[in-house]
Amino acid sequence: MYDYLIVGAGLYGAVFAQKAKEQGKNVLVIDKRDNIAGNIYTEKIEGINVHKYGAHIFHTNNKEVWDYVNRFAVFNRFTNSPVASYKGELFSLPFNMYTFNKMWGVVTPEEAAAKIEEQRKEITGEPRNLEEQAISLVGRDIYEKLIKGYTEKQWGRDCKELPSFIIKRLPVRLTFDNNYFNALYQGIPVGGYTKMVENMLEGIEVRLGVDYLENKDELDKLAQKVVYTGAIDAYFDYKLGTLEYRSVRFENELLDIPNFQGNAAVNYTDRETPWTRIIEHKWFEFGKDENGNDIPKTVISREYSSEWKPGDEPYYPVNDEKNGALYEEYRKLAENEKNIIFGGRLGEYKYYDMDAVIASALEKCKNIL
Ligand code: UDP
Repeated sequence: MYDYLIVGAGLYGAVFAQKAKEQGKNVLVIDKRDNIAGNIYTEKIEGINVHKYGAHIFHTNNKEVWDYVNRFAVFNRFTNSPVASYKGELFSLPFNMYTFNKMWGVVTPEEAAAKIEEQRKEITGEPRNLEEQAISLVGRDIYEKLIKGYTEKQWGRDCKELPSFIIKRLPVRLTFDNNYFNALYQGIPVGGYTKMVENMLEGIEVRLGVDYLENKDELDKLAQKVVYTGAIDAYFDYKLGTLEYRSVRFENELLDIPNFQGNAAVNYTDRETPWTRIIEHKWFEFGKDENGNDIPKTVISREYSSEWKPGDEPYYPVNDEKNGALYEEYRKLAENEKNIIFGGRLGEYKYYDMDAVIASALEKCKNIL
């Protein structure tokens, strides 16, 4: 009999398993996929660690989390600086002096601040949705060229119908600083995320290709307690209705050229381009293979966003009011379930970054192990 059956070998499951084992618990990890690492799974193609379920750039302000992940991987000095392409015109992200200079020709921070101040005047009072929040942060010009199209493709919803917190993820700076994140610590694990999760799961029994919900009764018998990191509505067989998610489809291409776009991420912020962004994976590790040699080829992924439907992979919870209320109902059901913990992006229906998932798993372990 195991102490814990952990459903899902993604980040939440791996952290929980690692901590539990460290404290002498007997754990079994299962995953319905044939690979560990959930959506941070990376696969080596032509010497390049390809982020198969979308780009993941580790960043955090949490020293405990940073120290924790550094036990399982060496992190390189990658800094995320995406480029935005609006109908072929290029801008720096996040919104900083380079962006303002390109947009308005302003040169000093004072001029930039004045321009933003003038444009944000149209929003009076507390912003009620993403559109108002965006205009009040950076003004209408930037909203129209760098936010509106991208956001509507990404979420499949009008910016007026989306919660404002989504856009607050992006910094706005009056300095020449293209670092996308305001984080003390940032980097990519050398050798890929799969290796990092493998290290976390060292010495732990993992069974892949096992679907928990399809074999629930039998699997539940194996352990005292369950940690479930799948979708919470699926656990309850959608009995209160389905929560909405966004899914992502990737079109991967191996190209026989050394450099396609000169950057890891280019966001396509106009409505006309059907994809939201293109990732060129080699730049997460500076174009070098594990021996430090230049890689002659390149792998790119075009990312298409779509509404989730049964059978698709869920990626992003849609944390608007309607879904928030439904989730609350599911959370109450979950509270009444015995011997089970719901965790992670899908288990808690929350747009968590990697560091927040780890922090939440570590916290849970502190409380119950
Ligand atoms: N966003 C945008 N333009 C961009 C990049 C991001 O308007 O070029 C907005 C968009 O609403 C997106 C949000 O900022 O959903 C958060 O973007 P982030 O890059 O943090 O999302 P993730 O990497 O998690 O997909």
